[in-house]
Amino acid sequence: MDAVAIVGAGISGLLSAYYAAKRPECSYLKVYEARYSVGRPHCTGLVSAETVSRIPFARRHVLHEYSSVKIVVPELKAEVNIAFEDCGFTRIDRVGLENTLYQELLSLGVDVSLGDPVLAISHHEGKWSVYSKSSISRYDLLVLASGYNVRLVKSAGLSCKAEKLSGVQVELETGGRQSIVGEDTVLVVLSKQFGGGFAWVVPTGERTLLAGCATAPNVIESVRCLSLLLSAISKVVGGVRLSSKPFGGIVLRGYPIRPYNKRAVGVGDCVSMVKSLSGGGLYAISLASKFVGAFISQKSSLLREVRLLSEELKKQYFLAKAVKTAIRVAEAVGIEGLRLDIWSRGVSYDDHLGILYEVLSNKESLIALARKKSATLYIDRARTRKKRHIFDTLLP
Ligand SMILES: Cc1cc2nc3c(=O)[nH]c(=O)nc-3n(C[C@H](O)[C@H](O)[C@H](O)COP(=O)(O)OP(=O)(O)OC[C@H]3O[C@@H](n4cnc5c(N)ncnc54)[C@H](O)[C@@H]3O)c2cc1C
Repeated sequence: MDAVAIVGAGISGLLSAYYAAKRPECSYLKVYEARYSVGRPHCTGLVSAETVSRIPFARRHVLHEYSSVKIVVPELKAEVNIAFEDCGFTRIDRVGLENTLYQELLSLGVDVSLGDPVLAISHHEGKWSVYSKSSISRYDLLVLASGYNVRLVKSAGLSCKAEKLSGVQVELETGGRQSIVGEDTVLVVLSKQFGGGFAWVVPTGERTLLAGCATAPNVIESVRCLSLLLSAISKVVGGVRLSSKPFGGIVLRGYPIRPYNKRAVGVGDCVSMVKSLSGGGLYAISLASKFVGAFISQKSSLLREVRLLSEELKKQYFLAKAVKTAIRVAEAVGIEGLRLDIWSRGVSYDDHLGILYEVLSNKESLIALARKKSATLYIDRARTRKKRHIFDTLLP
């Protein structure tokens, strides 16, 4: 029987606690949260349908469904349109979901200590000591879910590659036209203007949008980029009115290097569990929090899955780098006006590597792109019966 401490009650900590609370091997579980409440509006909440089905209670917090992504690179006059016929993605209400998870934990009898930041942790004689604002306690297992937090991650002997972007977004009402690209399409802009980052426009209702950008971690720079984005949107839709204050936080690019150590495991942003191309954390968090439950019951073979997930995220990090380099090279050699339309079936919104693999391994699409500057690629994984995701077969 184990006493378990979870540091942080963001989505990683709440989900990890939910799975831990269900393990009979868990004799005592305490969640420490620095803030006085749960549920922080900082995230856009875009997740694949698969990820929604993996997260308990997420389905009831779905706000909107999408079926395609339009990626544009203005400097190259280039665009890639990806349509997901059967595996779309959704926007979920993160604050609502986190509050539901919190209430569920309370009903399961979990001790959630709000307004109680963990100040330090240390490991002696096989136990973790947790020093919080209100107490000092000893635990058999430690789950770090404290978001981007270098100090605690180091103390736990964990490590990751983490590059910070500053993410800021705002809700808008449009003046004339309903949306820029259609009600079920999310627009992503990769431009030098965003200092190595990116921008996104998400339709949220009949005349409402969410627009945001992730830029170099500098408040002035992120505000400058957001106002640039808003004036561009305003021109297209005939004026915009801000319907929320700007909100956001740190968007990470990176991957876990050492996500577990001496009966301590990191989940989420604290160990850079993110898809670097989109900055999305929920995909990996929905998988890794399940591993925590298994970690508690000491099925050490499941550590293999944390390693596999980390390797996948590392590949995504290098994919993000490769995309950035390819754009720079295309600009340098003067390639302009490329257009690629991808229609997919059986391909997950989370599978960035798989989509790129399909594009690069399809001779016809490459030739068409080289000659005609525009191509349409059909990916039908449902027909070719390729494994949709490695974790679908590994997870209990
Ligand atoms: C602008 C923006 C848009 C995003 N959009 C998406 C998206 O569309 N899709 C997607 O999948 N991801 C998105 N993300 C990323 C996603 O939000 C993060 O990956 C996710 O929130 C990480 O969750 P977490 O629980 O690991 O960390 P957090 O959400 O940061 O939670 C950490 C918690 O730990 C607490 N804490 C910190 N230190 C301590 C301490 N010492 N003691 C006790 N408690 C502590 C904090 O108060 C906080 O509550 C976005 C992020 C941003 C900033």
